[in-house]
Amino acid sequence: MTDKVKKTKIAIIGSTGSIGLSALDVVREHKSRFEIVALAADSNFEKLKQQIDEFKPCFAALNDETAAIKLKNSVSGVEIRAGKDGVASLCELDDVDIALVSVVGIAGLEPALKTLRSGKRLALATKEVLVAAGQLIIDEAKKYNAEILPVDSEHCAIFQCMQAAGALKYKSVERLILTASGGPFLGKKDDELKNILPEQALAHPTWNMGSKISIDSATLMNKGLEVIEARWLFDVPPEQIDVVVHPQSIVHSLVDFCDGAAIAQMSNPDMRMPILYAFTFPERVSLKIPPLDLAAIGKLTFFNPDREVFPCLDLAYTALDEGGILPAVLNTANEIAVQKFLDGEIGFLEIPSYIEKKMKKCDNIINPTLEDIISADKWARKKE
Ligand code: MG
Repeated sequence: MTDKVKKTKIAIIGSTGSIGLSALDVVREHKSRFEIVALAADSNFEKLKQQIDEFKPCFAALNDETAAIKLKNSVSGVEIRAGKDGVASLCELDDVDIALVSVVGIAGLEPALKTLRSGKRLALATKEVLVAAGQLIIDEAKKYNAEILPVDSEHCAIFQCMQAAGALKYKSVERLILTASGGPFLGKKDDELKNILPEQALAHPTWNMGSKISIDSATLMNKGLEVIEARWLFDVPPEQIDVVVHPQSIVHSLVDFCDGAAIAQMSNPDMRMPILYAFTFPERVSLKIPPLDLAAIGKLTFFNPDREVFPCLDLAYTALDEGGILPAVLNTANEIAVQKFLDGEIGFLEIPSYIEKKMKKCDNIINPTLEDIISADKWARKKE
């Protein structure tokens, strides 16, 4: 009898983006272990077609309906779905074991909810889902007995530190410390950032990522969003979550425990590791990445973030402290401000002021429903 392991069946929502491509690399490296059942993207039908040809999923979807028609006419043997609902519907297919949600922004909310409500494992790369609707997402996961595995290097690190310490069982966590690379403008002051161009902000020193997260990283909003994400994933209050700048991106985050011990997770920066871990947890599976050579790295440095030059971090703490729909408003206002910056409509330093203005105008609703959160997103998108 052969020792054949049942393959884990995966749906990737956002397969043509940076995380989606890394996930497909992981699958390529472990073909005997994983099977791609469904792939979805926003509008890039050419790239999706290539992926369909290679991975032969049973289902695929494009958010853009015109692109979906083009795709339908150019492939066979795969069911093509279209639009927002078509994309989200892939997460609840009977055949799917794990859905990786790695689309940009609030668009990840629907696919994430569908995954949880069908009791499947959610490998969550779209942090905005937890930022906008943290309490709801956690409640749904509990209700449907579905797991959320973080696909964010810092949160995957914290998750691993917690596992190592048995922290989930023993409630011994004192503090979560998220590391931040500091982005491309580390050490710069306002007058040097005034006339920054999008291409300068997109050039991240240690991680190669999509444009929205690269800008978020340059403003430190990415870390602010990650503080909110950590609050929900690990049920730790904001005053016990800190941020430390660590430009080498080797220590991916750490946890302080009640006895003074701190456990950190380290590795060379490579998103394939958190993706693979989310697919195989609790098992660890081999991955071809260079082992950590600490002597070659020589020095790891840490310092406090400059909260005056990068006010987005504190805006996120404010939104988290006040709660309600404010984190959703912060998230949407940030999406819009980033787009405006990329389009050359506003300067780099206007990103935080744009977000702050929207937050100040918001009439907060405490304990929001899903509808309240969706309305808050719509409200924050309205042109003034
Ligand atoms: Mg991260």
